[in-house]
Amino acid sequence: PLDPLHWLDRVLQHEPGRPFLTTPGGRTLTYGDFDSLSSRLGQALLKRGVEVGDRVTAQVDKSPEAVALYIACLKVGAAFVPLNTAYTLVELEYFLGDAQPRVAVVRPQTLADVTHLPASIQFETLDSTGGGSLMDLAAQPENASLPAAIAPSALAALLYTSGTTGRSKGAMLTRSNLASNAVTLASAWRFTERDVLLHALPIFHVHGLFVAVNTVMASGSSMLFLPQFDAAEILRQLSQATVMMGVPTFYTRLLQQPSLGRDAVRGMRLFVSGSAPLLPETHREFHERTGHAILERYGMSETLMNTSNPYEGERIPGSVGPALPGVEVRITNPEDGVPLDASDTIGMIEVRGPNVFSGYWRMPEKTAAEFRADGFFITGDLGRIDSRGYVHIVGRGKDLVITGGYNVYPIEVEAEIDALPGVVESAVIGVPHPDFGEGVTAVVVTKPGAAVDEDSVRKALQSRLAKFKLPKRVLFVTELPRNTMGKVQKNVLRDTYRGLYG
Ligand code: ATP
Ligand code: MG
Repeated sequence: PLDPLHWLDRVLQHEPGRPFLTTPGGRTLTYGDFDSLSSRLGQALLKRGVEVGDRVTAQVDKSPEAVALYIACLKVGAAFVPLNTAYTLVELEYFLGDAQPRVAVVRPQTLADVTHLPASIQFETLDSTGGGSLMDLAAQPENASLPAAIAPSALAALLYTSGTTGRSKGAMLTRSNLASNAVTLASAWRFTERDVLLHALPIFHVHGLFVAVNTVMASGSSMLFLPQFDAAEILRQLSQATVMMGVPTFYTRLLQQPSLGRDAVRGMRLFVSGSAPLLPETHREFHERTGHAILERYGMSETLMNTSNPYEGERIPGSVGPALPGVEVRITNPEDGVPLDASDTIGMIEVRGPNVFSGYWRMPEKTAAEFRADGFFITGDLGRIDSRGYVHIVGRGKDLVITGGYNVYPIEVEAEIDALPGVVESAVIGVPHPDFGEGVTAVVVTKPGAAVDEDSVRKALQSRLAKFKLPKRVLFVTELPRNTMGKVQKNVLRDTYRGLYG
């Protein structure tokens, strides 16, 4: 049966005492504990009038209870709507207005600020230690019956996209989307019940919630649940774990730790990276230091995971690997959607499969515009597929620079700049230009004391790149603007430098 709760039931039948989650503080929840916690939370939601199809939002700190709330939603047939903890009150109000939840779970400190919101929303609190009004409600015994089996096509979650390219959209994910992707990943990454996942990601995104938690549940494994990423703490905990999932900045920060070496990762069998591009250099450095080839995969809120480098077989730095089993990936001409079948042709990445969402919440036009007639979803990412079937992402369609009528893929220019001595990283953007439409513009971070300046960068690139790809300006910053998942916010950079060329 294609339902995420199926795996929980399976473990509960065989071994309810198996650990599901442990915290560094020494708290352990078994699968049995987790099941009863989520059932009690389900009862609490029922008491608040939640019905099948309702939304339940959660803007809360990371805690085992917050994960249990997600499962509680599945149990009562509500759609779980996790919200980034960094959202301000104004943003929270926007998302509540859009999602129209029956119950909104917030941090205790938020409660005083939402009293003016419509009474149709029931506010409950949950704090980082698992306390608050929601848990109080869950503690009162009551035995309303949970709904019977819910259709695989029912809405399981409304997952707001990260808002990297514009306002976040709510991606409607079904129970079968979640179930099929988790089973696929657990098998592709060879998860067994002996695995311990080091979990240091936030749980309001696809990566930390659905990739991490669902894969653990689908395999009956367990996780070491850390409140956030802290490189030194990760190094202390690695010896207790077998798998880690991270965003690229986890890996660059781990590499800054002198004690990261083969000894520190002795018990580990797999490091996974995603959410943003992993620099080939980071991949190579990590391999040199630890002997581990980071496994990079590619996915998004709308589709869960699409591609993955192989568990066995070559993991190619800079590639996100072939399509996962059951998922179709193709490259098309962004203008007309005609498939570009010749290998290594750059175009729009499109995907189709049981992982692909059913549409954007309350945006029928946008949904219609992002699907082809044959059911392929237009990801908005540009890339190519090589002769071995590995996908290489070259960037987002919205980040493509068009200068004097020529297309410039930022990654090509960034790779050349990043290879220069003294350069840490770079972001290449298009900035409005009176003659060229857009001017190729490089924003560069250098190592402390490096002798790198605008002229030296431009000179070094002259022999490497066609003239139209050369940055018209090279600007220096101490760090690139990033969001919580480590994604470089090129729209922020474009805003900052908007007036650069007059
Ligand atoms: P929005 O859609 O609101 O602009 P977003 O696309 O960043 O935000 P997410 O759904 O969280 O929101 O992120 C999905 C995107 O992340 C993908 O479309 C892709 O651009 C990027 N991404 C994910 N994994 C990788 C990867 N391994 N390499 C490069 N990019 C990746
Ligand atoms: Mg997106």
